[in-house]
Amino acid sequence: MRNAVRLQLQQALLVRRKSLLMHTGAAERLDHACIVQMKLSDVIGKALQYIGKYGELSNTEQVVALIDEEMCINCGKCYMTCNDSGYQAIQFDPETHLPTVTDNCTGCTLCLSVCPIIDCIRMVSRTTPYEPKRGLPLAVNPVC
Ligand code: SF4
Ligand code: SF4
Repeated sequence: MRNAVRLQLQQALLVRRKSLLMHTGAAERLDHACIVQMKLSDVIGKALQYIGKYGELSNTEQVVALIDEEMCINCGKCYMTCNDSGYQAIQFDPETHLPTVTDNCTGCTLCLSVCPIIDCIRMVSRTTPYEPKRGLPLAVNPVC
């Protein structure tokens, strides 16, 4: 499970860095630098160690987003993303413009992917169990 989470976080970090570079117009230079410095053999098979069976995954190890208020530039991207495509788990203070992650966070990492400040949002272990809220009560005696 840890390996799967680590791979997911690495991918999210890459997407976020690329997004940041696109904002600054440096993505093209980065692509060129990567092509020059990397060979195909450098990346082939690198993800294989992270592949495993579904049954080996833990459904008790979960993560949530943690925002560093000192690093936050109050841009609101995490709030908009979580609201539109995530789980509506971020509240945005209209006065201070500080985002706050609530218990509804599923650890999907969308906010981390869009935040322009590297390491401002980190995924940390969840201390309470996540309870899905699907808008319907759980069926006790489902009728098939
Ligand atoms: S990890 Fe997903 S659910 Fe949690 S705050 Fe970020 S976008 Fe919202
Ligand atoms: S995306 Fe990052 S910098 Fe912007 S408000 Fe959210 S935590 Fe702050």
